[in-house]
Amino acid sequence: DRPGERDVPIWVTATAVRDGGNQISRYMAMFSDLSGLQRSQQQLQHMAHFDSLTGLANRTLALLKLEQGMQRAAAQKIPLAVLYIDLDRFKAINDSLGHAIGDEVLRQAGRRLARCCDDADTLARLSGDEFLLISHGRQPESVRELGEHICTSMRAPVVLEDGREIYIGASVGYACYPLDGDSSADLVRNADAAMDTAKSIGRDQVCGYSRAMTEEASQRFELERGLRKALENHEFELHYQPLIQVRSRRAYGVEALLRWRHPQHGLISPDKFIPLAEQNGLIVQIGSWVLHEACRQARQWQEQGLGLEMIAVNLSPRQFIQQDVVALVRTVLEESGLPASMLELEITESALMANAQQGEQTLRQLKDLGVTLAIDDFGTGYSSLAYLRRFPLDKLKIDKSFLAGVPQNTEDNQLVTTILDMAANMRLHVVAEGVETEAQWRFLQGRGCGACQGFLFSRALPPAGLPDWLAQQ
Ligand code: C2E
Ligand code: CA
Ligand code: CA
Repeated sequence: DRPGERDVPIWVTATAVRDGGNQISRYMAMFSDLSGLQRSQQQLQHMAHFDSLTGLANRTLALLKLEQGMQRAAAQKIPLAVLYIDLDRFKAINDSLGHAIGDEVLRQAGRRLARCCDDADTLARLSGDEFLLISHGRQPESVRELGEHICTSMRAPVVLEDGREIYIGASVGYACYPLDGDSSADLVRNADAAMDTAKSIGRDQVCGYSRAMTEEASQRFELERGLRKALENHEFELHYQPLIQVRSRRAYGVEALLRWRHPQHGLISPDKFIPLAEQNGLIVQIGSWVLHEACRQARQWQEQGLGLEMIAVNLSPRQFIQQDVVALVRTVLEESGLPASMLELEITESALMANAQQGEQTLRQLKDLGVTLAIDDFGTGYSSLAYLRRFPLDKLKIDKSFLAGVPQNTEDNQLVTTILDMAANMRLHVVAEGVETEAQWRFLQGRGCGACQGFLFSRALPPAGLPDWLAQQ
């Protein structure tokens, strides 16, 4: 090659030109430079197979590589494993710090994962914060070690340009070929199920696939199917737990708590199905039903002169973020005829933190309707009272886990006392949850806590039982 010369792919079109006697007199050739086209084709292929954010393989390429790898593994009898990696706190980071930072976190996570791999491995980003690693030649024991190595490396903070440190962490599930599946779809699904288990037993850890998981998954599927039907089949009920004024020990209101009367399994507590309903979005419909039913019931009791001052209803974070919850509350109040001042809405911190700005606005609009706003499960989330100051809240409910240690555990006593003092400072009313003993009640009384609820006074009662209970207290 002479300097400055390079090969250029060209497209040649040649045409024979004939003269009057139909003899070929000359040929005409047209050369077109194809490098531009070739570049865009390569780019297209790259886009079809790689993730533009991290530069890693995408799902399509990963599945292609997995198919090829399985064929090779079967022919040469070498083991193959699929690791499913999901970042632990990514959603919260993305929601609270913004997408630009979310993207940076994903890029850094991708680079870290790449450092955990061998050359022969395939690392892919499947979607969002989910990654897949196809590893060759490792026995199950060594696959687990690789997974642990990944968890360890993801524990170190991600350092942003401005020096801020963010902690993410990862949960890893793996499935081995051919032991845990003999199709690519099975392997990926099983690694994913193992990852779900890693998440559910506390995150930041590795789980191998086991057959028991498929059973769990099919039970979940059953539950989900039932849940979809539960609304139309009128299988939901609200039970009502009395809210007690500490000083007088008298009930001033109730909290509506959801129950599912399952045709086969009987009464199911919300902890068993609400997380699922949150995941699949059904909570939005279920939540509107709850609000309608609670307000209807409260209005009825008001008309019967039962003497309750208020009713508290739980809002799920998802409902709070997705739905036009302000419109819903307005409609429900109008339809039921319940005075807004009698309705209290309980919201968890995480719902507010997920989108603080919108959260603040929504709360103000709700406040304008005249309802009371309470922070539920205080102490289990971010627990920053200073941060909560910006929201127009009326009340704070101390999570029952803090009461459990009162009064024998001095640390819990101190915590509850501190929360009570700070709340008083911020002019927030306080409800202590989970009061089960006289000693707890006395402790709260001594510390000036306004209200409480718990099994000491009553469990959540079916609506028919409440009037009698109130009459006897
Ligand atoms: P939560 O809002 O913190 O409700 C209080 C839970 O503590 C209730 O459990 C109640 O029965 C239980 N509890 C009350 N007193 C005591 C006590 O003295 N000791 C102990 N150990 N527990 C006590 P439940 O009814 O099983 O509800 C669990 C959670 O399910 C609720 O926690 C709430 O987060 C959610 N939930 C219930 N109903 C609804 C609903 O209608 N919508 C939404 N989004 N979530 C709901
Ligand atoms: Ca609650
Ligand atoms: Ca609570």
